[in-house]
Amino acid sequence: MRKALILTFLIAFSICYSEASKHTAVQGIRYSTYDSYTRVVVDINGSVEYTQNRISNPDRLFFDLKNCSLSSSIKPRLVIEDGLLKSIRIAQNTPDNVRLVFDVNKLNKYYSFMLEEPNRLVIDIYSGEQKHPSKVKSEGSRKKSPISTPKRFKGVRTVVIDPGHGGKDPGAIGPGGLKEKDVTLQVSRKLGKLLEKKHNLKVVYTRKKDKFVSLNGRTHIANSKKADLFISVHVNASRKSSAKGIETYFLNWTNNKEDMRVAARENKISFKKMKKVQDSTQYILQELARKNKNEESMRLAHTVQNSMVRTMKKKYSRIDDLGVKFAMFYVLVGAEMPSILVEVSFISNKIEEKRLKTDEYKSKLAEAIAKGINAYITESTLIVNYDPQAIAGG
Ligand SMILES: [Zn+2]
Repeated sequence: MRKALILTFLIAFSICYSEASKHTAVQGIRYSTYDSYTRVVVDINGSVEYTQNRISNPDRLFFDLKNCSLSSSIKPRLVIEDGLLKSIRIAQNTPDNVRLVFDVNKLNKYYSFMLEEPNRLVIDIYSGEQKHPSKVKSEGSRKKSPISTPKRFKGVRTVVIDPGHGGKDPGAIGPGGLKEKDVTLQVSRKLGKLLEKKHNLKVVYTRKKDKFVSLNGRTHIANSKKADLFISVHVNASRKSSAKGIETYFLNWTNNKEDMRVAARENKISFKKMKKVQDSTQYILQELARKNKNEESMRLAHTVQNSMVRTMKKKYSRIDDLGVKFAMFYVLVGAEMPSILVEVSFISNKIEEKRLKTDEYKSKLAEAIAKGINAYITESTLIVNYDPQAIAGG
C-alpha cells in the first residue's frame, strides 16, 4: 500500500525542477548492477528539467530531458540485460528534447534525482525481490530467496572506511593550514588497523593515499565489495571559529539549516543549491534512506557518537557532544549497508586544529570509532530474530 502510494506520488510529481539552460547535452550514460537495484547515471554538461513516465505492456520508463541535445558519441541503444533492465534507448525525439526509454523486466519501484558537480541524472530501478548476493552476478539474473528463510543478524565481516576528500580536493583547511584530507586519511588508517587487529574485521578503504575519489565512486566501492558497514570519516568546519565538537550523521532529509550547511560543504555545493536539491528530492530521499537500512544507520551513528564522546572526554577537556544528526550526503546516497559519516572535530577551531595535528589525538579518535563499531556489532548479535526489513517498515 505504502509502495503504491509513493509510486503514485512520484509519478504525480514527475516534473522535477532544476535550472535549465539551452545547449545542455547528454555526454554519456553508464550503469551499475547491484543486488537489489540497477543504477543508471546520465552524464549531462548542465542541469536540466525533465519529466518521467511509466507505461506497461511491455513495461517501459520514459525520461524526457528538456532543452537538451545528444553528444555525437552517444549510441542509440545500450543493451544491459542484467535481469532487471533489458536496454536503454536514447534519441533526440524533438529539436529540444532528448528521450530515454528504459525497457524493463521486473520493475517494482524507481527513483530519479539530479545531482550536481558533475551534473548527472541518477535513476535507480528496484526489482523489489529479495537479495541473493552469491547468485546475482554469476547467473546474470535475479532469483527470489526462499521466503521462509529466517532473517537473523548475519554478523559484520567487512567494513568500508572512507577517508573524506583527497587529491585535488583538500576538504576544509584550518587556520593553521592543516588540511582535512590529511587528517581523514590518518585517522582512517589507524581505525582500519584497529578493526583488523583488535576486532578481527576485514577492512576495505575507498582510498589509501592522497588521491581523488568521486563521491559516487566511494559508494560504488562499498556496494561492490558487499561491505556490511560504511564509515565515512570527515573533519568539520564552520564560519564561526568558536564552533567545536563531535557529530555523527546518517542519510535522511532535513530542514535544519546548520545540518544542511555541513552536508552542502561535504557535497561541495552551495547552501542555496543544497536547499534546491533537497526541495526536489524530499520524498525520494526519505524512501532512499529507508532502503539504506536507515534504522540501522541511526543505531550505528548513536553507538559511534557515544563512544567517541565518552572516550575523548576521558582524556581531553572541552569535548562537545553535538549529537547524531541526519542530512543529505551524496556519499551516503545509494549505499546498501548501514552507513554513517563522522565529523571528528572542527578543523576551523584553533584548539581542535592543534589537537588534530598530534598523533595522540588522532589515535584516540580512531580507537573511539573502533570501539563504537564494535559496540554496534555486539549489540546487533543480541537482537534475536533481527530483521532489518521489518524494522525499516518495508
Ligand atoms: Zn569533509
